[in-house]
Amino acid sequence: MKKILVRLGIALVVLVGILVYVFPQVLFLFPFTQKWALQREGSQVATFYFKNEAKDSLWMKGVIYSNTLEDLKAVLNKHPEVTTLVMEEVPGSIDDEINLLASRVLRNRDVNTYIPRDGWVASGGTDMFLAGTERAIHPTARLGVHSWAGMEKVATDYPKDAEEHKKYLAYYKEMQIPSRFYWYTLEAAPADSIHWMTPVEIHEYKVVTPELSWNSLLDLQKVLASDAYAGRGTGANKLAQNLIENHFRGLGLQVATQEFSFEDERTGKKQSGKNIIGTIQGTKYPSSYIVVGAHYDHMGMVGDTIYNGADDNASGTAAVLELARFFSKNPPEHSIIFAAFDAEELGLWGSKHFVKHPPVAENQLNLMLNFDMISRNDQNEIYVVGTHQYPKYRPILEEISKNFTELKVSFGHDDPNDQTKDYWMQSSDNGPFFAMGIPSLTFSEEDHADYHQPTDDIQNTHPVYYKNVVALIARTLVAIDQLNPL
Ligand SMILES: [Zn+2]
Repeated sequence: MKKILVRLGIALVVLVGILVYVFPQVLFLFPFTQKWALQREGSQVATFYFKNEAKDSLWMKGVIYSNTLEDLKAVLNKHPEVTTLVMEEVPGSIDDEINLLASRVLRNRDVNTYIPRDGWVASGGTDMFLAGTERAIHPTARLGVHSWAGMEKVATDYPKDAEEHKKYLAYYKEMQIPSRFYWYTLEAAPADSIHWMTPVEIHEYKVVTPELSWNSLLDLQKVLASDAYAGRGTGANKLAQNLIENHFRGLGLQVATQEFSFEDERTGKKQSGKNIIGTIQGTKYPSSYIVVGAHYDHMGMVGDTIYNGADDNASGTAAVLELARFFSKNPPEHSIIFAAFDAEELGLWGSKHFVKHPPVAENQLNLMLNFDMISRNDQNEIYVVGTHQYPKYRPILEEISKNFTELKVSFGHDDPNDQTKDYWMQSSDNGPFFAMGIPSLTFSEEDHADYHQPTDDIQNTHPVYYKNVVALIARTLVAIDQLNPL
């Protein structure tokens, strides 16, 4: 009897072995074998995890499988504070039914999705990404699409009104993605290959949402202020230049650079700098320009010490980059020149060069917005500088700021006769514009203990304050863009 059982056992193992060998897809039928099957292919099933204390961003990596719905529900029930799913590396799904159900859970709970720096998401992962209420992609991240195939037929073999297409079309409709996105994915690449979406396609198919993305804003500030960027000292800020230029190009802006040289008054040394500018043409008044600028340089290294300049002025630079993304999705009526100025710390050299060699006729430059240190303030106070000279913008700002109950919007630092406050009309990149008679508004907080210190680091950012300031700026810009003339 024992012998028979052993033989039966062996026979069963052999049979299963042959079955798996001949039809490896059998392994994908059960959740407990899916893990093993994926590992055999060198991938892993989707796992969820946290990287920050606040647990508001839930990270995800791996292939969506039969347990993903349960796993996701469990983690969201345990952590209702999750606002964003950060999809680090999600190559696809091996259970489409479960994938669409899990994705609907995300949308129903109003969770945002984000693909972080160097992240990539493809195939079924892309479907899940589209479930985010607010969706953003880091400029270095990728999103892949392709067609699907059954046992014998491929998607495009079926007529357009075939049942096989309906579950996908219904899903995209629910997610407010145009149905043409679905037909595009079928043509983009066959099922066994992948097409990485271009920035133009990402825009075209409404894959990312046009609202400001806090993830992308905070992430950009963090990258610019990281040690790898070595404090972005003029002459040693190539990494920052590349990031800004790639960001503008990725958004489809017309990009130009302005190289210039100057003599550093403090050292007498000849130095060179580089402004990076990206332009979006206005839909109604294309020959009227608004310059939206910030200096991206900081103090670099002093000896072995890195001055990261997270607030001064990775914060303003990231705001320019994020606003460029916003307006590339929401084309403005007036043309906007997004400008990242170099060599501000050494004497406003980048903005001086810009006004001397403007990329368009000087009389077409109608307004300049400047951001310099906007990510932290213990009093939640932000100064708007320039309404003393240009009072017509003040009521607009007063009206908009009523919605910002967490932010104190103050006016000042622009009256040369006000002895109580430093005069800021000449102390940042607004200075050269002011000297040329071009109206400007500068957004800046008052100095803090870490100003021009190596401790001006990313951990001192006040995220809620920073987001509010950038939202205030975005709304102000949208409102001013509707004026004619500016
Ligand atoms: Zn500054």
